[in-house]
Amino acid sequence: MAEEVEEHVEEQFGDEVEPERPALDPETAARRAAALTQVRQFGDPVLKAKAVPVERFDDQLRAEVARMAGIMGDAIGVGLAATQLGVMHRVLVYKVGEDGLLAALVNPELEWAGDDLEEAEEGCLSLPGVHVDVERPVRVRVRARDEHGDKLVIEASGLEARVIQHEMDHLDGVLILDRIPRSARKEAMRELREMLDARAA
Ligand code: ZN
Repeated sequence: MAEEVEEHVEEQFGDEVEPERPALDPETAARRAAALTQVRQFGDPVLKAKAVPVERFDDQLRAEVARMAGIMGDAIGVGLAATQLGVMHRVLVYKVGEDGLLAALVNPELEWAGDDLEEAEEGCLSLPGVHVDVERPVRVRVRARDEHGDKLVIEASGLEARVIQHEMDHLDGVLILDRIPRSARKEAMRELREMLDARAA
């Protein structure tokens, strides 16, 4: 039963899980805070820029993917785009659920999206304090390569599909704030400013 509840909580988020989990021990919280210092925050122009395709599948790319996975894990995120670290490559990583596999998608292309749309709450490691309802297709098919250059076809639905779409948006400089109605954006911006002011203080 407890597992079900936790799953429900996680399902509400984009590349960020519950930001203020009461269960975080001091060491985990410190590691999360350190990881977040590596993640570009709202206002940084790289978050509005379009990333470029990867052409070389070399050790440098694999090191980049490993670094992204480490920061995502420490930040307790479920997804991370390279642009969020200031690296303008079309690369994203995600891991959905405790038992989910860590996946790296290089040069992902949306091949198909189903007609069914669903609205769910998302957060973003680059937008502290912001949690907004975003409507997205429930099912997608994405073509990509892995960090070795091997071709991948991902058929995803539900939370996995949501996280992939959220991260692919980042590669085009699109944030969840760009995906919501104007009235909701106003409220979210207010919360975001409060959070950023509190951090700066
Ligand atoms: Zn994000």
